[in-house]
Amino acid sequence: MTITHSRSHELFEAAQRVLPGGVNSPVRAFRGVGGSPLMIERGEGAYMWDADGNRYIDYVLSWGPLILGHAHPAVVAAITRQAARGTSYGAPTELETQLAEQVIAMMPGIEQIRFVNSGTEATMSALRLARAYTGRSKIIKFSGCYHGHADMLLVQAGSGVATLGLPDSPGVPASTTAHTLVAEYNDVAAIEALFAEHGSDIAGVIVEPIAANMGFVLPQPGYLQALRDLTRQHGALLIFDEVMTGFRVSPGGAQGAWGIDPDLTCLGKVIGGGLPVGAYAGKRAMMQTVAPAGPMYQAGTLSGNPLAMVAGLVTLQHIQQADWFNQIAKRTAALVAGMEQVASEASIPIQAGHAGTMFGFYFLKEAGQAITSYATARAYAHTERFARFFWAMIERGVYMAPSQFEAGFMSLAHSQEDIDMTLAAARAVLSEL
Ligand SMILES: *Cc1c(COP(=O)(O)O)cnc(C)c1O
Repeated sequence: MTITHSRSHELFEAAQRVLPGGVNSPVRAFRGVGGSPLMIERGEGAYMWDADGNRYIDYVLSWGPLILGHAHPAVVAAITRQAARGTSYGAPTELETQLAEQVIAMMPGIEQIRFVNSGTEATMSALRLARAYTGRSKIIKFSGCYHGHADMLLVQAGSGVATLGLPDSPGVPASTTAHTLVAEYNDVAAIEALFAEHGSDIAGVIVEPIAANMGFVLPQPGYLQALRDLTRQHGALLIFDEVMTGFRVSPGGAQGAWGIDPDLTCLGKVIGGGLPVGAYAGKRAMMQTVAPAGPMYQAGTLSGNPLAMVAGLVTLQHIQQADWFNQIAKRTAALVAGMEQVASEASIPIQAGHAGTMFGFYFLKEAGQAITSYATARAYAHTERFARFFWAMIERGVYMAPSQFEAGFMSLAHSQEDIDMTLAAARAVLSEL
């Protein structure tokens, strides 16, 4: 069984002549698994088709946003209806209020919200706000957590960087990261030490509630609460970067699932239903610092874009329905349980996890290894085995993230048959690895 990718190869050659590396975001280039990427022509429901006409069950889903699947009819209808009324006005619309009200109703920690156009913009602006509100300069991030590509956050930043094996990026002057402190994820002692030394200078701590840009690493019991307690104690803000976990771990994100109350929340991905949207949000008293309500400047020509607002609104309205959300979560759990079963049959050690509608698994170099941090992910993940698994799954029509250090996603469109087909493919592949 060999499928052809010749048209994808041709198109990628052409792309490389005019786009650096042939892509507009690095992980798409498949460097983590070798070979060249599939050029995608079409998506519908749980499936994508490449330029050679091959169909794949898609567990990347545009890296998370497409929680209803590709081209969900209600999303397409809403975008189409809005497009006919104009694509952007640069003036306020009722749609922005509607999406804001929807998010506030779903996410317990949020009282006010500012829409932007990407997750990167959201985290960058949330940190500006934390600094403006506290009058302090230093921020803490965790090694292996990715918060977009703003200069001050491009320190030990996981995924794309991890996949490429780059240290930090050239072009980021040391002065811009001078106020960024880094601690190991899941290590309470490490962050206590930073607070002990710098406590009164720390504006905020930004964290992915699940570290899902270095694979899939759950917070250990009590870890997020420890961050909440420490930040309160020292007058620093706790910033949950829920760009990925938002509306995926539960309809109320990780904060809803685990009952932690962050000061600020960053959103992206699902909130735009497949269109470019991000947001930062939080307590009213803090959000009132943002211009024009307050002095902290932040703006955007296309922010609150009407097409993006309607796509987000329809998407959130769907997953607010408990039975739909639970169906996606149930399929996620079934896929992960099946992967564990299939790997154990083949005596291949893996570490798998899931929360709500997202999941991840590592191939481990040896049984018994436990990945809880960036250091352990780098040390124990069997990336070479993953690369072989990835391409063999592609051959069998299953498209997973092209890196061991990325999470996977489920949608409302994935059926039990899709899960069964995926597990049958994995069983065949793992028995040969
Ligand atoms: C994807 C992601 C971002 C960046 O969002 P973009 O829209 O790609 O800029 C930030 N934080 C987390 C946790 C993410 O997963």
